[in-house]
Formats: sequence, C-alpha cells, structure tokens
Amino acid sequence: MTYVSAHLRKLIIERANQRCEYCLFPGSAALFSFEMEHIIAEKHRGTTEAENLALACPYCNRAKGTDLGSIDPETGKLTPFFNPRTQKWSDHFQMNGAEIAPLTAEGRVTVVILQFNQSERLEERKRLISAGQYS
Ligand SMILES: [Zn+2]
Repeated sequence: MTYVSAHLRKLIIERANQRCEYCLFPGSAALFSFEMEHIIAEKHRGTTEAENLALACPYCNRAKGTDLGSIDPETGKLTPFFNPRTQKWSDHFQMNGAEIAPLTAEGRVTVVILQFNQSERLEERKRLISAGQYS
C-alpha cells in the first residue's frame, strides 16, 4: 500500500466532510479511524492521487477490498461500484429509514458488496440517526 502524505490525507478528509464517502458514516461518531481508499485499487493500476482516493470507513473499505464492481443482481451484468469522485451519492442511493436503498445498478452492486445493510451496521446507523448524528 502506497504511503499517503499528510497533506493529501487532510485534503481527502476535508473534501469528504469527514464522512465515509460510501455509507456516509460520520467520522465524528467513529471510534475507529477512517481509511484512504483507492477507488481503483493499486492492483489495477489505480494511482495514489486525490482523484482516485476516497475517505472510507473500515467496514466499506474492507468489504470493497480490491474489487472494482460486481454482477448486478437484477440484470446479471458486470457493473462498476459507485464512484464518489465522478458520481453523486443521492443519484445512486437513498435512505429508507436506517437502510441505504440503491436506486441504480451501480447502487445495487455497491450496497450488496460493501454490505451497507448488514445487521450490525443497520443497528449502529439507527442509533446514530436517533442521536441526530447521521443525516
Ligand atoms: Zn462506509
């Protein structure tokens, strides 16, 4: 894993407004540190530059790994994940209570593979929503 400079880390964290750019988990409520995620993994020749980095919570980052996409459960087509650099979150997902519901094929593969609605994550999100920390 390539070293991400302090300057670049700061830029990524501020640009993301200190939230996971995939599941929107707020960094202010996290007991763990967020990670610099390569949108296109280094394994696939993704670069360590601002345009290929996203702020991600450890849940999303570990579930995504070096994957770039998956098979859309509805169409059976190979589909890339949601890209927080080139796409808008609200075009691909919406909150349905504490659940993150996909609106597109990219949204569907991202919700499934990054395990957005895994039961422990849903419980944690419910708690944050009632505390007004997740909006
Ligand atoms: Zn996340």
